[in-house]
Amino acid sequence: MNSSTEEIKARINIVELIGTYVRLEKAGVHHKACCPFHQERSPSFMVNEEKNMWHCFGCGKGGDAFAFVMEIEGLDFREALQLLAEKTGVELPKYRTTEPGEKNNKDRLFALLELATKFYEKQLWEGAGKKEILTYLRGRGLSDESIKKFRLGYAPDGWRHQLEFFLSKGFTMTELEQTGLLIKKESAAPRDTTHTVSGGYDRFRDRIMFPIFDIFGHVIGYSARVAPGGDESQAKYINTPETAIYHKSRALYGLFHAKQAMKQAGRTVIVEGNMDVIALHQAGIEETVAVSGTALTDEQLNLMKRYGREVRLFFDMDGAGQKAAKKSAALALEKELLVSIVALSSGKDAADMGKDDPDMLRTVVSQAKPVLKYFLSTSLMTHDAHNPSGKRQIVDEYAELLQVVKNPIERAEAIKDLARAIEMDERMIAGVVNKLFLEKTRRDGPAPLQAPADLFQEKHVFGKRSELLREEVIALMYAERALTQATLARIKELGLLSFFERHPLFFFLIQTGTDRESVDLIEDAALKSEVARLSFRILESPEIAEKAGEERRAILDDMTERYLRDLHSEVTKRERLLSLEKALDEARNAKDRELEKKLLAEFVLVSDGQSGHPAAKE
Ligand SMILES: [Zn+2]
Repeated sequence: MNSSTEEIKARINIVELIGTYVRLEKAGVHHKACCPFHQERSPSFMVNEEKNMWHCFGCGKGGDAFAFVMEIEGLDFREALQLLAEKTGVELPKYRTTEPGEKNNKDRLFALLELATKFYEKQLWEGAGKKEILTYLRGRGLSDESIKKFRLGYAPDGWRHQLEFFLSKGFTMTELEQTGLLIKKESAAPRDTTHTVSGGYDRFRDRIMFPIFDIFGHVIGYSARVAPGGDESQAKYINTPETAIYHKSRALYGLFHAKQAMKQAGRTVIVEGNMDVIALHQAGIEETVAVSGTALTDEQLNLMKRYGREVRLFFDMDGAGQKAAKKSAALALEKELLVSIVALSSGKDAADMGKDDPDMLRTVVSQAKPVLKYFLSTSLMTHDAHNPSGKRQIVDEYAELLQVVKNPIERAEAIKDLARAIEMDERMIAGVVNKLFLEKTRRDGPAPLQAPADLFQEKHVFGKRSELLREEVIALMYAERALTQATLARIKELGLLSFFERHPLFFFLIQTGTDRESVDLIEDAALKSEVARLSFRILESPEIAEKAGEERRAILDDMTERYLRDLHSEVTKRERLLSLEKALDEARNAKDRELEKKLLAEFVLVSDGQSGHPAAKE
């Protein structure tokens, strides 16, 4: 590593850096969070301030500040270096490139879009858009401050104004095409890079320009609205097409201005349109973004998940809006996000309400309803819960949504609500929903519930012994169902829930609570026989084979507690070993013999089970 990377590393506080992307909580000497790189419910992503390192015990990723930025921003090393240099004020030696490489080209495209944005802004504030467009935007309730903050602009009518202007500033036709500013004429030769305007024309004509920024604040594309009084036969919004820097499945309108608030609130509010985003920001709900020119995607949800676990969907109340809301909700539930729905009783959209009554807007967003309850109540309003066909429709509609809910506890709760609402047997409904769930997991490819082997990818993290202990506990639960609730509580207490949840049989257990028949819900033959094997092993063990009733229960109780404690210290030890391993590597790389010796001694101590960790002493 050269001196500037060292200098950057020295200047960076890794907790602050990572804290701008994920919500970190202090936990002893570490800071921890739910990992931004894999899906999890309890935090296994650790940051160590002193060592300037991070590590995730769930997916095994880790490293220094550069590794983090590369991973989370999808940058290569040099880009990460540049970004961190900017942040820390370290000056980098200029890279000399003999040929315009890809990085160089990207910089040119950013520069071109920046120039274009300035051009559109100028048109809005001083040029052709001054009168009509500015009046329109103000009339929609946008303040001048907001218009400037989001850098709205106006693309004047005509075919070649922009084109000629950009060419005069030294950009090429190819570059214009690569940013999506130009539509190439079909007749033009494919490699026409000459400085002539004959090859194409301006894409955005007589439109209000909403620049779309990447996470750093570079303009990467536009969402362009037809100007009031403009050619209404055209699409209301057109967007920059997919380019080397604008990927619509990943971009979010408003993200750059929302990310700070998203992190603070731990949630994202998703609205339908650009105007809505600005209206909500203006009302102080700055954690708001919109998708533009596409339905909500997995990638966008992953991006939001970096900032917090909650999303609020604020869509129009008409049929199309509600349909989109349901679809988006299902996607978000599948990502195990906390989803709620903002409902408006009036026919207004968010932008209108922001203009007329920002207080009201804040109130409705704060009163978002949990998604499952929300869609159950809309279903109950559309169908008659008192006759059989109505019931059936309600169950079908609701099961559609429930089948994507992975968290069995959440699912069980929702099933209970539904059963109560339509006065039907809970277990019958559970049967319908679970059947759908299993069909879906099967459809989705390698289904975790059918293929236990797939679930043991954490082997290198938790180790064989932990897995065996987990299996013993689950076996005990199957052997004596009365233990389930108490054991579940204990598992949570010891922070082992996410580890257990990765075991397919555990899923069925908590699905049915203390109900004896959970085995019946398991359709997969291999899993069923696994249950049998486990419960037999326990029931025939010499410790309890001859015992019955209270006595047997007490012994099982003891065994469970013993296994859980062992498991807890095993997992803790394992975590300690992993971080020691990491530290050892570093010490070796740094050729710090003293430290290496010390760490090695500690490593031996811990792996022999004599660590100073309190858990091991229990
Ligand atoms: Zn991870």
